[in-house]
Amino acid sequence: MKKQIPVTRCQYCGSEDIGLGWQHGEALVTFKCHGLFGNRLRLYICRRCGAVLCQCVAEPYKFPPVKNGRY
Ligand SMILES: [Zn+2]
Repeated sequence: MKKQIPVTRCQYCGSEDIGLGWQHGEALVTFKCHGLFGNRLRLYICRRCGAVLCQCVAEPYKFPPVKNGRY
């Protein structure tokens, strides 16, 4: 299975040096992935200018679809 990276290049400074970070429930951004539960957010960060290029949840399938859902 190929790992997909949504961004490979910084749209702000053009750097291709992208770092991966993790944001946990307490809104703390870390560089480690620990724990199996919680609302983990995966962050792709430009290592040159520090811009957050993309945020992805770790388990997107856990969230209910909007299309068919009712509010
Ligand atoms: Zn950048």
